[in-house]
Amino acid sequence: MEITDVKAYTVEEKVNHPFVWRKGLPGSGETSQSTWLRICTDEGIDGYSYIGRGAVALDIVRRRLREVLIGKDPLQKELLWHEVWELDRIEELPIYMLGAADVALWDITAKVAGLPLYKVLGGYRDKIDAYASTVTFPTTEEYLEVADQCVEYGFKAVKLHAWGDARKDALLCQRLRKHVGDDIVLMYDGSAGFNFHESLYLGRALEEAGYYWYEEPMREFSINQYRKLCDHLDIPVLAAETSDGAHYNAADFIIHGAADMVRTSTGFKGGITGAMRVAHLADSFQMTAEVHGGGLPNLHVCLAIRNNSYYESLIASNPIDVETGIDREGYVHAPAGAGIGFEVDVEDLQRRAIAQL
Ligand SMILES: [Mg+2]
Repeated sequence: MEITDVKAYTVEEKVNHPFVWRKGLPGSGETSQSTWLRICTDEGIDGYSYIGRGAVALDIVRRRLREVLIGKDPLQKELLWHEVWELDRIEELPIYMLGAADVALWDITAKVAGLPLYKVLGGYRDKIDAYASTVTFPTTEEYLEVADQCVEYGFKAVKLHAWGDARKDALLCQRLRKHVGDDIVLMYDGSAGFNFHESLYLGRALEEAGYYWYEEPMREFSINQYRKLCDHLDIPVLAAETSDGAHYNAADFIIHGAADMVRTSTGFKGGITGAMRVAHLADSFQMTAEVHGGGLPNLHVCLAIRNNSYYESLIASNPIDVETGIDREGYVHAPAGAGIGFEVDVEDLQRRAIAQL
């Protein structure tokens, strides 16, 4: 089997429910650009992956990925993963580009096998609990309303992205715990908004309120600061979401006691190959590798491995608008078809693209 062409289509779309994150971070904006990558083969099987960026993605596909991929065997994902890793040494690729080709190559592999991807990767389960992962809402009352709607819908777990103010966020988290009671699992995501002392203060409040995990309070540059935080807290600290270096870096977080759970994802850890490596690495230390972010590639990883608790489902609006595929008990189910299951209409993409290769 041989890769004959690599195409890419950048489209611009209106954001359904524009939203914000904590203070200091850019929000969704009113429109978003994204790029579909399409890897074509001599056997007529195409693989797809979705990159949530426009011009930058197209540039890297044009200048670099095409050269690596065309003429190669798409089933040799290990080889191609390492060749992209070498490219990273020169380009310092945006972290979300490391796995862009890998996801499409796994799509091809699973289509060749005639199986949904998670079964090719291992196949641990056919459904998994989703948690409602909120965007940032303006008031405590609105968070409580949104949480009520999520519980009413069927979610058994809710994660907050709050304001990025340690004191206010701590009060919000405690208030939410009282509001929903002890049977709902709660998590908190700091989106790297804090310094060490703020992180410690907030961590203690979450610990008292019985939160399930405390995610990414600080930027993930300093293993030492995360180790200190883990030493001071009993609540599980979930880290290594945005840190560069996939499993090479996750290994350092783990071995230095700088995380109690590690993040893995197809978006930030080098596609399916990198996400599975992090998951297996964590498993060898009897730790979970909690899958960051939604979407089909991440869902397949969630279903393929044992050491992950939930699928992350974004709740971007009030009233809530739950993504398709989550049932009224809060489960998300396995895609049935061969491959990843992207429904791509190439002609439509070609027509709508603001730029393409
Ligand atoms: Mg996060």
